[in-house]
Amino acid sequence: MGSWEDNVRKVVPYVPGEQPNQPDMIKLNTNENPYPPAPGVQKALSAMDAGQMRLYPDPASADLVHALADHYQVSPSQIFVGVGSDDVISMAFLTFFHGKKPVLFPDITYSFYEVWADVYRIPYRTIPLDDQFRICPEDYTLENGGIIFPNPNAPTGAAMNPEGVEQIIRQNPDSVVIVDEAYVDFGTASALPLLKKYDNLLVVQTFSKSRSMAGMRIGFAIGNEKLIRFMQDVKYSVNSYTMNRPSIFLGKAALQDDIYFRNTTRKIIETREWAKDELRKRGFHFADSKANFLFASHETVSAVKIFEGLRKRHIYVRYFNRPRIDNYLRITIGTKEQMQALFDALDEIL
Ligand code: PMP
Repeated sequence: MGSWEDNVRKVVPYVPGEQPNQPDMIKLNTNENPYPPAPGVQKALSAMDAGQMRLYPDPASADLVHALADHYQVSPSQIFVGVGSDDVISMAFLTFFHGKKPVLFPDITYSFYEVWADVYRIPYRTIPLDDQFRICPEDYTLENGGIIFPNPNAPTGAAMNPEGVEQIIRQNPDSVVIVDEAYVDFGTASALPLLKKYDNLLVVQTFSKSRSMAGMRIGFAIGNEKLIRFMQDVKYSVNSYTMNRPSIFLGKAALQDDIYFRNTTRKIIETREWAKDELRKRGFHFADSKANFLFASHETVSAVKIFEGLRKRHIYVRYFNRPRIDNYLRITIGTKEQMQALFDALDEIL
């Protein structure tokens, strides 16, 4: 006897970071920006008219696409927008990774890649990082049906130089190569200039980190016009109205204040470099992060013990119970004051 359960698509779901809601907490667990979005976003929000919510949004999100095209000096036909970069990458998996050959990604990386491969029934192979958690471009030569990696990588924070990224693309002219640049604005060279040379490259970025808009859910991809058209076709066939009116309107506003953007990212980079010294002094080691987080392990005290000690003090960091990284904590870079509170708490725990 069968059951309806035989027909269900069963997956091991992605586990998103915890979103606790305590007034006195210090939240360093999901790589949010500690600073508010550009001031123009608040102004735009106040100017929004609830009456407009009656109407469907523009399915092409043209206002936001044009603002991004101006900002990155590309054609609007080279831009795809989505509900956070998770939505963009999910659409890219669905569009480009359709063959029988395995998709390649690093063995330690953003854990959503494995989940998308699983839910869409895409075969995949993971490629080991070296012992310093670095991606090795020369290893991306196996026959494959596509490649994706973050630069800088997550959750390690380690960045690859542009030559390494180009090597992977050059070695794989028959595959779409997706570079997930969620954290690129915190000090890594973007792969965007390579778009002039390679039509199989898709660069994905987000408003969630450097633009302080995680709550709005806005991400985008930039690539060759033909790649983008293929993605649009799939998106329109799955859910035409992904972007809502506020995200189109406020996303555009978030792009407008470059000085504010540069100041906040600079502050986060400075705090990160200071935090590296402070953590080192306390017996931690970590990969050389170029992101807005550090992936740190203590020489004597276990990650679980530190995680729980911090939690008791309402300081939230991220712990991944996965092989090879189960003695590491991923700590988002907050304000200097938040980081000082973290170091004070560590001094009590260690
Ligand atoms: N890529 C990487 C590497 C990430 O760490 C994240 C954040 N969890 C994302 C993509 C997705 O971010 P968002 O959907 O908020 O744009």
